[in-house]
Amino acid sequence: MKNLIVIAPVLLMLIAAASAADVAPATAPTAPRVRVLILTGLEYPGHKWQQTAPLLAEIIGKDRRMEVAVQEDPAYLASPQLHEYQAMVLHYMNWQKPDPGEAARRNLQQFVAGGKGLVLVHFACGAFQGWDEFRKIAGRVWDPRLRGHDPHGKFTVRIIDSEHPVTAGLKDFETVDELYTCLAGDAPIRILASATSKVDRKDYPMAFVLNYGRGRIFHCVLGHDPAALGAEGVQALYRRGTAWAAGLEP
Ligand SMILES: [Zn+2]
Repeated sequence: MKNLIVIAPVLLMLIAAASAADVAPATAPTAPRVRVLILTGLEYPGHKWQQTAPLLAEIIGKDRRMEVAVQEDPAYLASPQLHEYQAMVLHYMNWQKPDPGEAARRNLQQFVAGGKGLVLVHFACGAFQGWDEFRKIAGRVWDPRLRGHDPHGKFTVRIIDSEHPVTAGLKDFETVDELYTCLAGDAPIRILASATSKVDRKDYPMAFVLNYGRGRIFHCVLGHDPAALGAEGVQALYRRGTAWAAGLEP
């Protein structure tokens, strides 16, 4: 009993300290959070990035180890500040507009080659058309000569690699989305999830990973609209894929 009396005030102090930390994380930081940037601000008109970018930030930010910021100016790709982030989520497609230019392309290339993470969202595979190096960075890119996608609708995404940290433990899931059939390229990729087209019965990659230089790339073609990003399986892929790209254990 004597021991308990001694311990109790210590416990109370510890509880009080923990409560203070909960309400004041800025003044009492625990482990530093990994900084992730969502780069958006321009897309194919059918893609409402104003809705989907904040949703992606919310989905990824549910992993509290990551602090997610959204940048709506594609010209930021040329900024040296880009390198303050551990990973970038490219939710961007310069539809019928020039890309942000040579300095931005070089900066993006150096960002990934230097060891950072890159996540490509849905139609980001169509960005930087005509920039050869982007084929190597993205692994696969949109080829406008190919059929774009199945009619928008329901399909099953199959997890085909349960060994990779991003998809370990994930289960097949149904989603309502665009099943992309338009990717081309020959960089070595590791396919994590795929789906079978209702149109031609062929399998197409829905999510895959690759390396470029010292960088890690998670590329996912799912997530046409807020409803598609609402699927739990899609959310898990983006959250875990971004964590992996940022160098965390998903
Ligand atoms: Zn789409």
